[in-house]
Amino acid sequence: MRKINIFDTTLRDGEQSAGVNLNLAEKLEIARQLERLGVDIIEAGFPAASKGDFQAVKQIAETIRNCSVTGLSRSVQSDIDAAWEALKGGAEPRLHLFIATSPIHMHYKLRMRPEEVIEAAVSAVKYAKKYFPIIQWSAEDACRSDLPFLAAIITEVIKAGANVINIPDTVGYITPKEYGEIFTYLTKNVQNIEKVSLSAHCHDDLGMAVANSLAAIEHGATQIEGTINGIGERAGNAALEEVAVALYIRKDYYQATTRLNLQEVKRTSNLVSKLTGMPVPPNKAVVGKNAFAHESGIHQDGVLKEKTTYEIISPELVGVHSNSMVLGKHSGRHALRNRVAELGYTLTEEEINKLFVRFKELADKKKDITDDDLVALIFEEKFDQFKDFYQLSSIQVQYGTKQIPTAVVVLTDGKGNEIQEAATGAGSVEALYNTLERCFQTTVKLLDYRIESVSGGRDALAQVFVKVRVNEIETSGRGTAQDVLEASAKAYINAVNRVFMIEKMREENQKVAIN
Ligand SMILES: [Zn+2]
Repeated sequence: MRKINIFDTTLRDGEQSAGVNLNLAEKLEIARQLERLGVDIIEAGFPAASKGDFQAVKQIAETIRNCSVTGLSRSVQSDIDAAWEALKGGAEPRLHLFIATSPIHMHYKLRMRPEEVIEAAVSAVKYAKKYFPIIQWSAEDACRSDLPFLAAIITEVIKAGANVINIPDTVGYITPKEYGEIFTYLTKNVQNIEKVSLSAHCHDDLGMAVANSLAAIEHGATQIEGTINGIGERAGNAALEEVAVALYIRKDYYQATTRLNLQEVKRTSNLVSKLTGMPVPPNKAVVGKNAFAHESGIHQDGVLKEKTTYEIISPELVGVHSNSMVLGKHSGRHALRNRVAELGYTLTEEEINKLFVRFKELADKKKDITDDDLVALIFEEKFDQFKDFYQLSSIQVQYGTKQIPTAVVVLTDGKGNEIQEAATGAGSVEALYNTLERCFQTTVKLLDYRIESVSGGRDALAQVFVKVRVNEIETSGRGTAQDVLEASAKAYINAVNRVFMIEKMREENQKVAIN
């Protein structure tokens, strides 16, 4: 069996999804989960892009011990320097250099002649070699590049010291057969190609990202890049969980394996979906809610007699378990701490104490506290706190079918000042959001609003997800509460706080640039 390396770019390409802005605590949690899942390489960000990105990559590199952590870099020295500063504390520092190689990109974007592109690529690899033991080199828009040119530039970067060669289908244009042929062509036409490993990076614009990745494996690729749940730019990247499970289920055909712990697939998918606010479609392969549901009578009958009649993947393989532990009013701190650990979260003693208070409050109102409830509380405690910005003190909403809905909100800002406002709206959520907008003293455009219950039952927690745009910045936010209006308010504040956080980081960036 050939070993296929899994290169996860959920935190870089995935975070480029519209409206996704993860904070540092969220990025770290995803990185820890990716380590538990067993990916080989984590692309943690683009260190030169911003101070926030730099900090996140650095922290992740210093925290993660069982994966190689990498960061993206353009072919310029300042990017490579920033990447080294961010990555040098990692277990196996690795640089991901890229430059565009398609005529369209070289001409319009880079405004460089092909020979200038080769020169820039080679000198970047040579410069990076001074620092990094491993260099991955990517030909951006490789699939729309001229193949002899692609072979020529790859020959030169291998000579300069690149260790991994990535062939991205940046715009999601290629078909599986053509993609395979590119790998075959390069294998035949690049000198010393056997000294490097070949990598695939596919986008899903035509719905072929996973199929293309698997075709690359059949034609010599030993590394697959992608994201959890396939999130990413536009239609997203190849979904890594689908690639890994396809290799496992069809090992008879692919004769290739990954080191992923497939039991962690579902948990990773849930975590990424919740933290990014990007829902997983129910019919999605491997991790969708309905992926293991048998509806038709004939199918149900078959599965009851013998599972394999209609089930090629067992839910247990990817860590889907139907029984969830239930805690209740009489559960103590010890039981809570154990369950949090079993769910895979690392909380400080202070966080556990705060969580216990919230848990007790909830247990007074709700009979059974499920794992999903607990995860929602952990999220609030661990990721949704923006202490430097707005916090909700109280809300009051009046609604009646013959009344004008009215809301009163009290917030505190990061300095501890109290802000109180009131406003009306056509409905209670609108009244609430109009009032909050007054508190923020800025125009907030609500782009999306979703509500769901965390578990079943009339006493279930409500979870609201919103997407907003403020001053040209798009963010998403979430809020959990037993009441839908309180959850709505929290989600809105959470999303707007993320905007203020981004603005603050941008200001700091500018200060750094001026200095
Ligand atoms: Zn990409």
